[in-house]
Amino acid sequence: MTTATSAPPMIRATGVNKFFGDLHVLKEINLEVPRGQVVVVLGPSGSGKSTLCRAINRLEPINSGEIAVDGEPLPAEGKALAALRADVGMVFQSFNLFAHKSIVDNVMLAPQKVRKIPAAEARKNAMELLERVGITNQADKFPAQLSGGQQQRAAIARALAMKPKVMLFDEPTSALDPEMVQEVLDTMTGLAKDGMTMLVVTHEMGFARRAAHRVVFMSDGEIVEDAKPDEFFTQPKSDRAKDFLGKIL
Ligand code: ADP
Ligand code: MG
Repeated sequence: MTTATSAPPMIRATGVNKFFGDLHVLKEINLEVPRGQVVVVLGPSGSGKSTLCRAINRLEPINSGEIAVDGEPLPAEGKALAALRADVGMVFQSFNLFAHKSIVDNVMLAPQKVRKIPAAEARKNAMELLERVGITNQADKFPAQLSGGQQQRAAIARALAMKPKVMLFDEPTSALDPEMVQEVLDTMTGLAKDGMTMLVVTHEMGFARRAAHRVVFMSDGEIVEDAKPDEFFTQPKSDRAKDFLGKIL
């Protein structure tokens, strides 16, 4: 595979600061996610992981710094923002599917509305995506009729339907029963193998070890470590990372 050396990283955050009132939740964040890479974000609760994800597609405004997606600085608002946001797929802990729409309708909706794709084409694309996440047989059911793992895979298909350049996952398996975690991680691993650029907040250390190109460790609003998984798990440099790993491994 050849990548032009001049290609910008898919995500580049430079000197990003974010406050909630007096609370400084993102402190001079510098982060690059090169195209095709999987970056896993680890860190204790309250360290700013979700805020970082939300800042990357401007669900949350930042106070200073810059965030660029595929070389384009994120505009604050307007049509340009909507277009850039469509390039960034996001999957949350809670699946956020539309309860009164079938699974295939959930996946078709945004491409039809935002990208103005005709219904027949949107449905065909949606069915292909449901196949990719392994739930074509659930297409005509409603979200409540699916297991949590199936719903989360539907949510991934829905995000992919917009043909995003990058996918953000914020603790996608945290709300799932244990027996359903692996099917969602497998779906994500498949995406990564297909070359999708991904930023993944998770507590699944097995996934981080196997799928991540890099691990970013956040604590108290700062990126404290940014390392290869092997390095991070075997030789964490900071006391904060050692402490974190001691608690979860
Ligand atoms: P994490 O995802 O790592 O658990 P968050 O990004 O959710 O951390 O939160 C970082 C900090 O910002 C926490 O102290 C949290 O309480 C605070 N916070 C998050 N969202 C808000 C908000 N909307 N208003 C005020 N404080 C918030
Ligand atoms: Mg969070």
